[in-house]
Amino acid sequence: MMPLEECVSPHLVMAQRDHVRLDWRKPYRALERVRPTAWTCACWATVYELCEGGGRAFLRRTI
Ligand SMILES: [Zn+2]
Repeated sequence: MMPLEECVSPHLVMAQRDHVRLDWRKPYRALERVRPTAWTCACWATVYELCEGGGRAFLRRTI
């Protein structure tokens, strides 16, 4: 899929040669004060967010 002209957030790129495949788990109970600090563009069916809060950071994948 090609990025749209109005896209402002980054899109996924090809996996790097030394990438690590993640095991996606069911979401934990919502953490208080979690905020997304980076995210991929919402024009694709899957959005990834880097969330931080309460001394933790995690990736959230939304399909
Ligand atoms: Zn986009």
